[in-house]
Amino acid sequence: MENYFMKEALKQAKKAYNIKEVPIGCVIVYGGKIIARGYNRRNTDKNTLSHAELNAIRKASKKLGDWRLDDCEMYVTLEPCQMCAGAIVQSRIKKIYIGAMNPKAGCAGSILNLLDVEKFNHKVEINKGIMEKECSDMLKLFFKELRESKKSQKNM
Ligand SMILES: [Zn+2]
Repeated sequence: MENYFMKEALKQAKKAYNIKEVPIGCVIVYGGKIIARGYNRRNTDKNTLSHAELNAIRKASKKLGDWRLDDCEMYVTLEPCQMCAGAIVQSRIKKIYIGAMNPKAGCAGSILNLLDVEKFNHKVEINKGIMEKECSDMLKLFFKELRESKKSQKNM
């Protein structure tokens, strides 16, 4: 089941990849069903808030008619940043499944762990390394192609 939902998150990441965005995707599951999907659209929307996780949280809240996502679980292909980790705690999401970790910006254990701070009134259960290779391979491919396109532009 974990892999099934992470594959769905990867499909969202692929949508970002197809529009030349950093490929990060996310789904939110409630009662065993996907109720919201999101992918990174930061450049497309020209908005720093347009991360996969926030896009999915917005849709899930709309669907459930509540800002509280108590019994929801999130699947995301890359470890959340500080902004998204903050929103995940604020939305009371119960559990998060993470594909690849992000040593340079991750806030679910890499730089900080905002999901597990004793003094906050809510903690999020973390499950890491779900389809890690597939998730990180998609990112690696994206950045490799980006470097190559920059190189070929220079040579023109
Ligand atoms: Zn984020």
